[in-house]
Amino acid sequence: MSRIKQLSPSEAQKIAAGEVVERPANVVKELIENALDAQATNISIYIEDAGKQKIRIVDNGHGMSSEDAYLCFKHHTTSKITCVDDLQQLQTFGFRGEALSSISSVSKVTLSTKEPGAAHGTQLYLEQSAVVQEKEIQCNPGTDICIEELFYNVPARKKFLKTKETEWRQIVLLFQAFCLDYQNIHFKLFSENKMVLNCPPVTTLMERIAQLYEQPMSSSIVPLVQQKKDSVTVTGAISNHQYYKYDRSSIFFFVNNRWVKNQKLASALLKGYLQVLPHGRFPCAFIFITLDASVVDINIHPRKEEVQFLNPRIVEQLISQAVKETLEQNLSAQFKQQVQLAPAAFEYQPRSFAPEPFFASAPLTTPFAMPKTQSFFEQEPFASLATTTNNVAAQHDLVFGDADITEREQTEAVTAEKNYTLIGQLNKTYLLLEKEEGLFVVDQHAAHERILYEQFANRFNDVATISLLFPQIITVTQENLQLLEPHLPVMQTNGIAIEHFGEDQLVVNATPVHLKNVNLQELVNEMIGWITELNAVDKTTFSKTIHEKLHAQMACKAAVKAGDVLTTEQMHQLLNDLEKTANRFTCPHGRPTGWLLSTYEIEKKFKRKL
Ligand code: ADP
Ligand code: MG
Repeated sequence: MSRIKQLSPSEAQKIAAGEVVERPANVVKELIENALDAQATNISIYIEDAGKQKIRIVDNGHGMSSEDAYLCFKHHTTSKITCVDDLQQLQTFGFRGEALSSISSVSKVTLSTKEPGAAHGTQLYLEQSAVVQEKEIQCNPGTDICIEELFYNVPARKKFLKTKETEWRQIVLLFQAFCLDYQNIHFKLFSENKMVLNCPPVTTLMERIAQLYEQPMSSSIVPLVQQKKDSVTVTGAISNHQYYKYDRSSIFFFVNNRWVKNQKLASALLKGYLQVLPHGRFPCAFIFITLDASVVDINIHPRKEEVQFLNPRIVEQLISQAVKETLEQNLSAQFKQQVQLAPAAFEYQPRSFAPEPFFASAPLTTPFAMPKTQSFFEQEPFASLATTTNNVAAQHDLVFGDADITEREQTEAVTAEKNYTLIGQLNKTYLLLEKEEGLFVVDQHAAHERILYEQFANRFNDVATISLLFPQIITVTQENLQLLEPHLPVMQTNGIAIEHFGEDQLVVNATPVHLKNVNLQELVNEMIGWITELNAVDKTTFSKTIHEKLHAQMACKAAVKAGDVLTTEQMHQLLNDLEKTANRFTCPHGRPTGWLLSTYEIEKKFKRKL
């Protein structure tokens, strides 16, 4: 007896529908795409019970004739291609002619549609892909399609729908993606008949973002510094270093104007933020990649969500680069803006000579550098710190009255080649230097952090270690120990002699000199966090990221803190080291290490100059 039976067409169709329609958001996507393909400029989306009960999309596109209204629900019916070769020139979202036939096989559908100029419109009501009612109607040109009781006849699928909140979140994400992508379209989103989002057409991405997102997120977004290589262009907008989220829900990638999901692109983005965002925090990003259609395939997935590049490395590099440049420029711009704002604040408070507001007034500062490229590091300002002698002795007597002779002598020796005078330490946190250009302020922690970071990063093989008199015991769960164990060598090569010790413990017998008083339990916990977060990235990125994070964290923990009193010699040592350090203008987290308050600004403040 034969075991094989042919499925009835309707059952086969229901199964096939699963490829296109898995959840309400997929239906919403297909229907919005159809509206866009029909040249609509106004698209309203009505959702009930997160789409499980009802999804209705109303558009003002070119509509359908009554003949097409029938045809569109048939399998492989499309107005968009006639043969496979047409795919090469495809300008539309749809082409498989599968969406409506799939959707109508797993829901109850009401379609009302009218072509502009037609005498009347057509309304069809379908169940199980069959038209059960047909009407001539009077309606506006365009299409109004309503999907009810999704999966009512496929209980197996219905059962797998997620909670209302989850399904709704997917729809909102999708809505946001379309709004970001199509800024010239008026989109509206309704839930249970209440308008949730109303996004009239705009001309810029930044305006769209302001429509879609609340403060403070929207005000943290800055335009991306555009990148271009070969046929690839990367544009968009991202959140600055001051904002982050705990999830990735505001990271969007568009490839040739299609929203896509791609782990590698996300990794490239996060790489750009590597030393800026704390562990486990994510930026907002709206990245648009355009490239020659021949070097990308967006149709590899039936729902067209995945993307494959012929040369993914170029795209990834451009994204990382764009993020880095944007963050650097933004930091620099913020400081400049503060300088410009300050005199205005001064105008508004003519009485600000009173001690309190005077000291509390906005910082009058210029960044001493926010370099755009590495080459900039070689120029400016620390390079110019070196040269000519200065008569620092008197200054030191004044400020460091209690400094002993030996220290003073050393100081003079150290500073003999500098063109700055060390004024001293402010608030046990900032080093103040007098320079020809003005007052120079260095953040001792940020500066030391950067110095150590570069040391750890460059010399991890021969970093000076010290045996601990009392080895540190670190406790972790067994599960985390397993996770951590393969990565202990990373810590070992970085001078942390750490090994297994008992069932759920590790022991540290030696550390780099700078870490000798640091509690390493926290560092180990952080390491576990990174390993978990990075589990999806490829091996090389993983190892690189772990190294970078470890160096940044080691540097942060070992660096002098705000509040640490430094001797004059230590201050000079710090400044000397900083001068010799790469990337010295920011700490590994992206904060500036120093600022210049120019003599000109000071004179302006005192109304000596205008
Ligand atoms: P595809 O989009 O792949 O062509 P669909 O099943 O999504 O397949 O749609 C089938 C056809 O129905 C489309 O090719 C189009 O001609 C027509 N159609 C669907 N939705 C609309 C709409 N909102 N406005 C006008 N025509 C539509
Ligand atoms: Mg379609």
